[in-house]
Amino acid sequence: MMKDYIQQTEQVLLHTYDRFPIVLERGEGVYLYDLNGKRYLDFAAGIAVFALGYGNEAYNNALKEQIDKIIHTSNLYYNTMAAEAAGKLIKASGMDKVFFTNSGTEAVEGAIKAAKKYAYLKDGSANHEIIAMKNSFHGRSLGALSVTGNEKYQEPFRPLMEGVKFAAFNDLQSVEAQITEKTCAIILETIQGEGGIHPASKDFLEGINLIAREKDILLIFDEIQCGMGRTGEMFAWQNYGIVPDVMTCAKALGCGVPVGAFVLNEKTAQGSLRVGDHGTTYGGNPLVCAAVSKVFDLYEEKQLLKHVRNVSGYLEKQLDCIVKKFECIAMRRGKGLMQGLVIQGKKAGDVSQRLLEEGVIVVIAGTDVLRFVPPLIIEKEHVDEMIDKLERCLSRL
Ligand SMILES: *Cc1c(COP(=O)(O)O)cnc(C)c1O
Repeated sequence: MMKDYIQQTEQVLLHTYDRFPIVLERGEGVYLYDLNGKRYLDFAAGIAVFALGYGNEAYNNALKEQIDKIIHTSNLYYNTMAAEAAGKLIKASGMDKVFFTNSGTEAVEGAIKAAKKYAYLKDGSANHEIIAMKNSFHGRSLGALSVTGNEKYQEPFRPLMEGVKFAAFNDLQSVEAQITEKTCAIILETIQGEGGIHPASKDFLEGINLIAREKDILLIFDEIQCGMGRTGEMFAWQNYGIVPDVMTCAKALGCGVPVGAFVLNEKTAQGSLRVGDHGTTYGGNPLVCAAVSKVFDLYEEKQLLKHVRNVSGYLEKQLDCIVKKFECIAMRRGKGLMQGLVIQGKKAGDVSQRLLEEGVIVVIAGTDVLRFVPPLIIEKEHVDEMIDKLERCLSRL
């Protein structure tokens, strides 16, 4: 029966993904079930989305209640949920203004527009430059793709947005070399996700912060994957004590409903986008905002950040044992519940395939990194179960 659905899907959906050959039907906690009832331990969380795990009753009920009240109003009117959700995002970040989007890539688009407008209002010219990082990922729409430092993703779609310069991540001199009079923003992931789980170094962020303050260049931190508690702080930059001017969020922000946001500090909010500069029909509608609001409540209720700090220490320790034990594993990188194992010999795909057969879901990052981004509610016993099966797969490799 799974085969039928797979065949049917391939007939009607554009083939832009090589999907794993399973049809998922439902989830419970940190486990997913396919159509045959086979159970999978989920260390992918729908790519760092389902932080609260599947079937959280309070979350589900908040959505059901909101569906019965109102799902959508457009942004021409006020609604209670947008104010509530944005208020909680402001409080968690200490930043000042929120614009809700429908996805991560749209949050990046908005952040880019805010930076361009800020520079435009400052000097009246319209040829500003943005510095982005090599090996980065910011999304698939054309603006976000323009700042995504991956030749393979960019090439077929040129010409892209002008004025983007690339620097090497964690190399301050390389960033300095790209700065000109026209630089309006530096965009980076606090922890590079798709590029293979590379955390920014403290020196690098501090150096960039100094340059940005001195020259009034806006710092845009893409927290779409590493944010929302994944590192043990609500936002990864909070581990460094460096505050961006603009931050992008999505993925776990709504824990499964399509919502993203770009969040601005007062300076950027006051000096950039105004009425008519930006908009969205769905963005921040009552349904997704009910989800966002409930997500923040549940993080607090479950003391999820503290839990992440506890359980991720254990995960790191167990992964480090794997690194020692198996020669094909070069190293571990990551922070909190965003971890990667570098697998030598282009075997990452094989390992994830075998793990799936064993009933564990993981995804690849870059070309050779096995990525672990589980729901934030995982417990030590789930780490043990995953490690057990991972060992079995690796020893058969
Ligand atoms: C996933 C991701 C995006 C894109 O988000 P979408 O919701 O897929 O558009 C952008 N930046 C980072 C860091 C991401 O991980």
